[in-house]
Parts: sequence; C-alpha cells; structure tokens
Amino acid sequence: MNLLERKRRVLMPCLYHFFGDDPLHLVDGKGTVVRDDRGREYLDFYSGVAVNGLGHCHPEVVEAAAQQMRKLQHTTTIFLTEPMIELAEKLVDVAPRGLSRVFFCADGSGANEGALIAARIATGRPAFLAFRGGLHGRTSLTMATTGLPMWQADPFRPEVVIHVDHPMNVGMDVHFSQLQQAIASKGADYFAAFIAEPICGNGGILVPPDGYFQKLRAFLQEHGILLIADEVQTGFCRTGEWFGLQNWETSPDLMSVAKALGNGLPIAAWMATEEVAARLTSPQASTFGGNLVPVAAALKVLEIMQRENLATESRRKGERFKEMLRAIDDDGIVDVRGKGLMIGVELSHEGQPATDRCDAVLRSLRDNGILAGKTGPGRNVLTFEPPLIVSDDELERVATATADAMAATREVLA
Ligand code: PMP
Repeated sequence: MNLLERKRRVLMPCLYHFFGDDPLHLVDGKGTVVRDDRGREYLDFYSGVAVNGLGHCHPEVVEAAAQQMRKLQHTTTIFLTEPMIELAEKLVDVAPRGLSRVFFCADGSGANEGALIAARIATGRPAFLAFRGGLHGRTSLTMATTGLPMWQADPFRPEVVIHVDHPMNVGMDVHFSQLQQAIASKGADYFAAFIAEPICGNGGILVPPDGYFQKLRAFLQEHGILLIADEVQTGFCRTGEWFGLQNWETSPDLMSVAKALGNGLPIAAWMATEEVAARLTSPQASTFGGNLVPVAAALKVLEIMQRENLATESRRKGERFKEMLRAIDDDGIVDVRGKGLMIGVELSHEGQPATDRCDAVLRSLRDNGILAGKTGPGRNVLTFEPPLIVSDDELERVATATADAMAATREVLA
C-alpha cells in the first residue's frame, strides 16, 4: 500500500494536503530546499506556513536543541528552569512596547485561546470582535473568532463573537461603522477584546490601510476593549519588523506568538501588559509550556534573527520580490501585496476568484521545483512566505518561474 493509501486509512478525513491525488512526500530539507522521496529538490517558498524562518534544519538551532535534549528535556513549569526565564526576558526585549509578561504553551491555537481567556478575566466581559478573514486556531474560542468558513468545523461555536469586514476589503469608514453598530447593539461592556492578525495570512494576505491600527487602538481604548494581536504568522521578522503591528507603530494589550519562534520545534506564547497580567492570579498551567528543548531552539532563533538583521533583510527582500512580481504582465493578476516576506498575489477572472488557475500555477511551480501556498476565502491568492534567509538569486528564480507559470496557465481562467 502506498503512503497516500495508508494516510487515507489512518488519519482523520478532515486532514487535507496540497496537490490532491498526487501529494508531495517530503523526506529531508536544508536551508531553503526540501527533497521528496524521489530525490527531487524544491525551493520552499511557504516554510511550513511561515515556520522555518531560518530555513530547514538550521545547524545552530539543531545543535542548541540537541545539546539541551542531552541535558534535561522536560520539567513542567512547577519547577524553575533558567532557559525559560531567559527566553521570556528576550521576548519582552523585542516585543512591542508595554508587553512585559509571558505565558508559554505549545501551539498557536493554545496561545490565542490563552490570550482570549486572559482578556475576559482582565475586563470581566464575555465577548470578542474579530475580522471576517481572520484565522485564530482550532480550539473552541479560537475557532469561534476565526472568520473563514472553511476553518470553522465546529457546528456549535460559542456565540460570543461579532465579525466585521476587513478594512482592506470595505474601506475604513464601513469597517468602523460596523464596529460602531456592534457596540451600539450589544453595549461596549459586552466586548473583552478585538483579536486581529496584523496581516491576515490565511484570509489572503489582507493588509490594512496605513493608519488603521492606530485608529483602531484609539477606538477600542475609548470603549475599554482590549486589543489582542495574533502574531502567530506575522511574528519574528516575517513582515519586515519583529512583529507585524510594529509596521504601524501600535502596541496591543495582548499578543500571541508561535510558528517561527521554534523554527520547527513546537513552542508558542502569549504576552500581556503589566495591567492585564495583574488580574491573572487564578492558577493556570501548560504541561509543555516552556519545555526546555524548544526553548533552547527559540533562544538560538532570536539570537540569529538579531545577529543577521533579519527584520531589515525581510523588508528589503520583500520589496524587491514584490517589484519583480508586479512586473509580470498578466490580466489574471489583480493585486500583489504584503509586507516583508509575507506576500500574496491575487488571481481573478472577471471579478471572480480564479481558484483553478491558482491551483494550476501552484502545480506548474512545483513542476519547476518550487513550493508556494494558497490562501483567501476563494483559495485564489498565491502565497509566498520563504525562509527569511532566502537569497536574492532565489527570489529572482521564483519570480521568473511565476511569470512562466502564469503564461503556461492562461487558458485556465476561473
Ligand atoms: N493564528 C494564525 C494567524 C495562524 O496562521 C494559525 C495557523 N495557521 C493559528 C493561529 C493556529 O496555530 P496552530 O496551528 O499552531 O494552532
């Protein structure tokens, strides 16, 4: 029985993969390149959905984790360990102003769920505001705050969320009038927090207009509503700043991080201001939160990101890559957007999402030895999130291959 048949027998049917009946079976990776079971190499321009910021199997990160693994792996938070405290200190150093307390956990869903519950405790209010187009996770509250139907499997999601349209899609005026309406209908004291991805990743790389987050922050403050930044995908230099909200000089009350922090080892955290943290005295724990092995990897990740100026590099490379993508002459491309190395290329035909063409382009890229992603409610936004260590030559190669893929799929319109 081949691996796909074995997968279909034993894994949950809700777990999908790219390329349908012809999936990729990856066996190893180094830097920006992964290899499949037939020895074919691919430039990885999706990084396991923005995880491998430093590329695959970065030797220094591997060594840091391996050393820690031989020394002491796991204790839980009921005992003191120094690496966990050191990582919290480092996170506070690079985080947006005011975020001074850290709670470690194991994945993005757990980090967001923790932040949402913390906002309820801190405000004494039950409900949340969120973007249509946002994605926050698989747990109960994070699935309820998610604003993408395809990622809302639970038919009985708690009814404590009001979704508003993203300002990139409807403009600031409509967006803020929807917020006003929500507050007018439920009362401001119904809402604990607005949870927002600075740039909605799975929603199709939705970038808000300049000035939006500053305005949102002021609006929420006026109503005593906290701002939670979901930086699970945008964090750790992905958008050309340490964290996405720093593109708009905004500091949230709470922030969740995961993905790139461990460069592939599972580690996540939520952070809060002193004011919020002061209310969080009722006991909570996470068995794997602060586990020493991913903590050791994360300490090395932060050191390398700082040493190699990866925030600045991400911005520089992203600008260059966007320019090359914008030069592709094809009516099917209606927008190229993003910040740093978080870039979306929206494909449409006669005003409708070009879902099949996006798939065809992804296949063509794959045949050319390149992996990219697809996002957006219409699954029509070609998405590039390469490792931050990607070279200028590799960016050029992928831009050229994308132009070729667009040319080769002209007949696949919709
Ligand atoms: N928030 C965002 C913005 C994400 O992109 C994701 C995962 N794609 C999550 C939360 C959930 O993270 P995890 O899969 O680690 O639980």
